[in-house]
Amino acid sequence: MSDIIQLLPDHVANQIAAGEVVQRPASVIKELLENSIDANARHIQVVIKDAGKTLIQVIDDGTGMSLTDARMSFERHATSKIKIADDLFSLKTKGFRGEALASIAAIAHVELKTKTEVDEVGTCIKIEGSEVTSQEACVMPKGTCISVKNLFYNIPARRNFLKSDNVETRHVIDEFQRVALAHPGISFSLTHNGNELFQLPPTNIRQRITNIFGGKTNEKLVPVEEATGIVKIKGFVGKPEYSKKSRGEQFFFVNDRFIKSPYLNHAVVAAFEGLLKERNYPSYFLYLEVDPKSIDINIHPTKTEIKFDDEHSLYAILKSAIKHSLGQFNVAPLLDFER
Ligand code: ADP
Ligand code: MG
Repeated sequence: MSDIIQLLPDHVANQIAAGEVVQRPASVIKELLENSIDANARHIQVVIKDAGKTLIQVIDDGTGMSLTDARMSFERHATSKIKIADDLFSLKTKGFRGEALASIAAIAHVELKTKTEVDEVGTCIKIEGSEVTSQEACVMPKGTCISVKNLFYNIPARRNFLKSDNVETRHVIDEFQRVALAHPGISFSLTHNGNELFQLPPTNIRQRITNIFGGKTNEKLVPVEEATGIVKIKGFVGKPEYSKKSRGEQFFFVNDRFIKSPYLNHAVVAAFEGLLKERNYPSYFLYLEVDPKSIDINIHPTKTEIKFDDEHSLYAILKSAIKHSLGQFNVAPLLDFER
């Protein structure tokens, strides 16, 4: 019998990888927003149509890309963010896998417009199903604008699997809010079918939370702060009387990245022990800063789960910091401690 193993063509490999990185329009938004942040953008606009199913556009004022980099950015495993394996253990950027743009371009109609500070003209590239269909010079300011149209146009099963516009828009908003909360100093806007859903000016954490969740949120927030050799913590927990019947506003950020952690969530719940009504969930916005060497982000393509070296200490520090803040708030509400 003859040999039968072959290397997959790039566009097939990209399409397979896309299945892991891109589940829905919200996943595209997350990847594009993270790229804009890594490019040091200060203003980022998101425009979507039909819950992102027909159009997702992200416009930033970041560094932009040269013509060569613009072409290169759609190659698989092509990244400007890490060079050697050791870099994986000291990540300072959101991206590092070099897979997002290659994946997205394999399953959508993509147009990239980009210009650097030093280039006189920008580059406009169109890609369909991993094939570049046009490339020309264009006039534009410094920055990048990526339009992703007709997501999953070539994977009907995936397209049909998408939920209603309402549900997909909810996912987009969730992802948008997570990124906006992680970066209060950057301005963000989100527009859906011509309606502006969010317009967030650059500000601090407290104000960003209030701008997203409404004016009343401000008075519900109890500040949390702690600094040890293992972790620096800042942020807010919601006062116990404002806890909810549903898990709504629960956010952990580690080194400016939104993460999910049932284990750390448990630490927060434990700190609220005896203070919450039965079956109520606390709300929290907690920003943890740890040595990048002490975490592993590379355990899942979407990077929302991470592994900590010293999980147990983290748990204890977090719990005690929150208990302390809640205690201060309980014993001295009249002293205006939190303002
Ligand atoms: P990664 O973010 O993991 O490096 P991506 O596929 O998301 O991989 O992006 C590939 C490369 O394209 C990035 O490393 C970066 O150099 C460049 N790039 C992508 N988006 C932007 C942007 N908005 N502004 C400037 N450069 C970008
Ligand atoms: Mg990226």
